Amino acid sequence: MKVIIHRGTKEIGGSCIEVSTASTRLIFDLGMPLVAPWNKTEKLDSSGYPKMSTRELLDLGVLPPVSGLYDNADGSPVTAVVLSHPHQDHYGLLGHIRRDLPVYLSDGARRIIAASDIFLPLKAKIQHPVVVEDRRPVVIGDITVTPYLVDHSAFAAMSFLIEGEGARVFYTGDFRAHGRKWKLFPKFLRSAPQGVDCLLMEGTTLGRPEQRMETEAEIEDKIVEIARRRRGVKLIYASGQNVDRLVSFYKAAQATGGQFVVDLYTAYMLEALGHDSIPRPSAAFPRMRVLYTKFLMRKIAASGMSELFARYRPFEIDAREIARAPGKNFVMYRESLTADVEEIGDFNDSVLIYSLYEGYRREASFQKVQAFLDKHGIVIESAHTSGHAGASDLKKLAEALKPRVLVPIHTFEPGKYAGLWGRVQTLGDGQALDLACVPAGVKS
Ligand SMILES: [Zn+2]
Repeated sequence: MKVIIHRGTKEIGGSCIEVSTASTRLIFDLGMPLVAPWNKTEKLDSSGYPKMSTRELLDLGVLPPVSGLYDNADGSPVTAVVLSHPHQDHYGLLGHIRRDLPVYLSDGARRIIAASDIFLPLKAKIQHPVVVEDRRPVVIGDITVTPYLVDHSAFAAMSFLIEGEGARVFYTGDFRAHGRKWKLFPKFLRSAPQGVDCLLMEGTTLGRPEQRMETEAEIEDKIVEIARRRRGVKLIYASGQNVDRLVSFYKAAQATGGQFVVDLYTAYMLEALGHDSIPRPSAAFPRMRVLYTKFLMRKIAASGMSELFARYRPFEIDAREIARAPGKNFVMYRESLTADVEEIGDFNDSVLIYSLYEGYRREASFQKVQAFLDKHGIVIESAHTSGHAGASDLKKLAEALKPRVLVPIHTFEPGKYAGLWGRVQTLGDGQALDLACVPAGVKS
């Protein structure tokens, strides 16, 4: 079996891996890069890409050059695509694959991606989804893929054991051990597959100052503490897809006698998951309300989904109702919703609870948010924990799997892997690793 990381050996985002035998070629993930292919120190602005053709994106180097993967492609055809989780930097370029290709993914990932396609400019357009389940092996050609559900900031994320031609590869996807599904991690360590030749392990947090990862439960407590201290409206700056975090905000609203006001995108996303235990606009979750904003209503109408408007009317709240008791409301906010949120009018002792990676606050795109906050005297307080494992958990995973070779992926710091496992091999993008040639015996 052969492994080629088409992109991701020395960067975070844009992951694309090929694992192949003589007769089967599987592609794991096809993400949108986060840094420019022509200058990896530059953040990639992908806003123009939804309108560009496969050929143009290949020429730019945004699509990785993988033969047999795209429409009208030449070369031996790819057999299937397998997705680890529904984050754009893992699936964002999927709209360009050959239309007949099956895409293997978790049911949660399928639901999130289908719901996102209505709202986001970049469409995945999955034509042939094949749903895979935790620890249920699937055979694709002569390769067996066994998914393992993992804890991550994306819903229903998976790692994969990939077996073929007598070799075993383990691809972690993105994972952590401190979210709401943290128990999956010790469970995995206790029964980790053995005989792994090659471990492809993410290392997002390597190079960041090492500190103990706060748990999602601690983040929930922090949100409650902030909410009790600030009497005004609480604006929430978080991902509408980070289900763990949305649950934290709902519970914090509940604990403080308030309500969680979501936008139409978040409302639809939560409902699309189809899980009874996850808050969504319904009689079962009376503390969730929906703010109808002009920007998202236009998007929904443009997608031909206007029937959604009626669906959430029973749970609708408007700016005037929020303004009657501002302190009780946790309101999802993003820059595109500024005009609607400004209608609340009263921002006395208000706070924006910043619940994303801190690094984004320093980016140019945050300046408009900052200007809005300054205009109304709204302060920022942070409540966030990473979606990715810290170095100590990465080390535990490597030690449990005992791979013959550890290959860095989804990291800016491949050099830091040496401290995690005795035998590390850093590949270059597009470079093939033939597992038949990996020497036995691990020095760790
Ligand atoms: Zn991710």
